[in-house]
Amino acid sequence: MEKELNILKERLQEVNDLESASAVLAWDQATYMPPEGAAARGQQMATLGKLAHEKFTDASIGILLDKLRSYEKDQPYDSDDASLIRATRRQYEKKTKVPATFMAQFYQHTAESYVMWVKARPDNDFKAVQPLLEKTLELSRQLANFFPGYEHIADPLIDFSDYGMKASTVGQVFNNLRASLVPMVENITSQQPVDDACLHSSFPEDKQEAFFIDVVKDFGFNFEKGRQDRTPHPFTINFASSDVRFTVRYKLNDLSEAIFSAFHETGHALYEQGVNPKYDGTTLAGGTSSGVHESQSRLWENMIGRSRSFWEHYYPKLQDYFPAQLGDISMDAFYRAINKVQRSIIRTDADEVTYNLHVMLRFDFELALLEGNLAVKDLPDAWNARYKLDLGIEPPDNRDGVLQDVHWYSGPIGGSFQGYTLGNILAAQVYETAILAQPDIPNEIKQGKYKTLLTWLQDNIYIHGSKFTAPELIERVTGESLHVEPYINYLMTKYGELYAL
Ligand code: ZN
Repeated sequence: MEKELNILKERLQEVNDLESASAVLAWDQATYMPPEGAAARGQQMATLGKLAHEKFTDASIGILLDKLRSYEKDQPYDSDDASLIRATRRQYEKKTKVPATFMAQFYQHTAESYVMWVKARPDNDFKAVQPLLEKTLELSRQLANFFPGYEHIADPLIDFSDYGMKASTVGQVFNNLRASLVPMVENITSQQPVDDACLHSSFPEDKQEAFFIDVVKDFGFNFEKGRQDRTPHPFTINFASSDVRFTVRYKLNDLSEAIFSAFHETGHALYEQGVNPKYDGTTLAGGTSSGVHESQSRLWENMIGRSRSFWEHYYPKLQDYFPAQLGDISMDAFYRAINKVQRSIIRTDADEVTYNLHVMLRFDFELALLEGNLAVKDLPDAWNARYKLDLGIEPPDNRDGVLQDVHWYSGPIGGSFQGYTLGNILAAQVYETAILAQPDIPNEIKQGKYKTLLTWLQDNIYIHGSKFTAPELIERVTGESLHVEPYINYLMTKYGELYAL
């Protein structure tokens, strides 16, 4: 069996090399590529995507997986070999249902759509992307229909990013959360708004960068195995556990923009840098689901990066970088400013309390579009109406409305957003478990030390890569299935104190 397993690993390495090469091109497209390179780049990425897909879905892989079935059964479930075979079989069965020609068409289309969105958003021009988005919806439906037997047409698409989740189960968790969130948001936003003017004077970008680089090094990000660049929409991407890159968006007049997007992306990057290097080039490389991934970005961004303990250590350092802007601002005023809760229109700028309302409405729109209960041409009006209803505020234009997120302009409609809120919920459950296991963590955070926390996360979550599904990992790490209580407790404790709830 060793022979078959080695052949399988060699094939997976080749597939991974093609996918990593394509990812480098995608990173370059978002960071340094000149605009006129777009058409050629779309072609290049489509070719690499097609080759990787053909190699992975080749019948010989299916034969190898069949031969390895008895060996897999003889190994412990959580052994590397059994996990590799299991994860590969799951992906193989998923990908063999989608023809390579369809995937090539899909990649080509989304590459064009992304380029159009980059121009259409600043131009506030929804009409320019509307026909592309209509085609994306049609292709998303076709993609789902390669997996017949679903309960809801969104289920196969949700399965791509959050394996094992369904529209109905996600909807149930979301309903539980919404029941607690809506009164909390109403209570807070009926109070006198917090003054956050201290975040909105002028902050030179090089100093912002110098500050957050210090912090993410303290978190444990390894710049020998990664780098940071600037893009309009921050993201993290990796080509191996030894090459993990993240990007940040800066605003001169908003200190929180770059700092918290850096903490967020660093959370994703720490996860990727912490995966067992043995898994590089295999189906076990990389984090396990979008929800688990997001739980790590949210943990570092919010539970650490927006906590009072964190700033007790770092606020004097931040004041040193910006003496004219923050010298006279107290730590308490700053802490309130970075945790200001308000009704807002931009998801990525939203505070912890309202953020999930932004996600839930996008999730609902994805279901409605896929079901055929909402047409793309009616999306901007529906978007604005729902914002008015849920958040009490209407976007002034499509640029800060339906055009604000890259997701539907660079990938399928369906399964794109639920991971963010699943991640928030899971972050609290994981953090609660970490502190129970290592009660020193809160004290160390007050001193700017993260070794105990990072080691615990590495040993319990990061090291495993994609060995376990999200539900398996959650059960293993926390001893329970995903539930909203730790997250609601976290929000109630923190914002109860801030807003006297
Ligand atoms: Zn994220």
